[in-house]
Amino acid sequence: MPPDSRAARQRGVRAALATEGVDGLLVTHLPNIRYLTGFTGSAGLLLVRPSDAVLVTDFRYATQAPREVGEAARVDVDPVSVWQRLGKELAEVPLEALGVEAQSLTIRDAERVSGATRGRVVPTVDLVERLRAAKDPDEVRAIRCAASLAQDALAEVLPEIGPGRTEREIAAALEGALRRGGSEWHPFPTIVASGPRSALPHARTSGRVLEPGDWLLLDFGAQVDGYCADLTRTVVVGRRADERQRAVYQLVETAQRRALDHLRAGMTGREGDALAREVIAERGFGDAFGHSLGHGLGLEVHEAPRVAPTAEAPLPLHAVVTVEPGIYLPGWGGVRLEDDVYLGPDGPECLSDNRTELVELV
Ligand code: ZN
Ligand code: ZN
Repeated sequence: MPPDSRAARQRGVRAALATEGVDGLLVTHLPNIRYLTGFTGSAGLLLVRPSDAVLVTDFRYATQAPREVGEAARVDVDPVSVWQRLGKELAEVPLEALGVEAQSLTIRDAERVSGATRGRVVPTVDLVERLRAAKDPDEVRAIRCAASLAQDALAEVLPEIGPGRTEREIAAALEGALRRGGSEWHPFPTIVASGPRSALPHARTSGRVLEPGDWLLLDFGAQVDGYCADLTRTVVVGRRADERQRAVYQLVETAQRRALDHLRAGMTGREGDALAREVIAERGFGDAFGHSLGHGLGLEVHEAPRVAPTAEAPLPLHAVVTVEPGIYLPGWGGVRLEDDVYLGPDGPECLSDNRTELVELV
């Protein structure tokens, strides 16, 4: 990551400080710290002030933090307490109003912040997350690379899938292929749901044994340079799809196609969601599509913006979002198809392969 992108991101934070009525921001959400400094450790506090940025961390990161952060921030390593060190920083350059991240700060840590500053503590919401929603070319490249890795892992594992295997065995094979292919980690627990369990949109992978004619829903991710891809494919196992399976699958595919072709930056999240939802609702399956169409992707697998019936905010230019319509029929099964899309100035660009033709593993 070039240091200039981190400097530009911090300028974005500084520009937002005045709007929030604060003269500094304490960043505690680790993905935000990574975004602004490059630091990938699991413990740290980042203080962004108008004239500087200070990352406070502990002994475990004494070597790693300066190496990752470089010129992007001054690194303070405190072997005893990061909060005490923050207090010293705030005593040297006192702030009148210190912004904190309301969604990440625990009540205990909020007390620590109050003890560390003499100024007011002001909760802020999504200040850095708003900046993160618009990706730069390097971020888009990393997500594209993660998607490609995830697709390759699935292609490697599909031939091994068939009746008699368990969901957990398939998840293990897929996760092994993801790691061998270069995924840094699984951004979320892999979902492998078979038969009637595929009707559970967020099923926990179980020991169920696959039977001929089952749906098999696989929702899985990969991570490259910290950036996540998130894909879902649904296949039929052990025999050809029956008529109803084919009809439901085609409806989900048509709904996804419409959203992938027409989703644009500037639409509200609600309008984006409706592109797919209308197709499904018109055919009488509206109640069977109970979740939102998509979510932002980046350093976190669920981040801004939302593509949902309740999202009135416009989708930002350069956002990356998932498009994942689904139809879930309790007792019968479910179908979801999920791809990852970049909303560029020339329209949507799919970062994953969108290979959604019905696969029958016979
Ligand atoms: Zn997913
Ligand atoms: Zn998703």
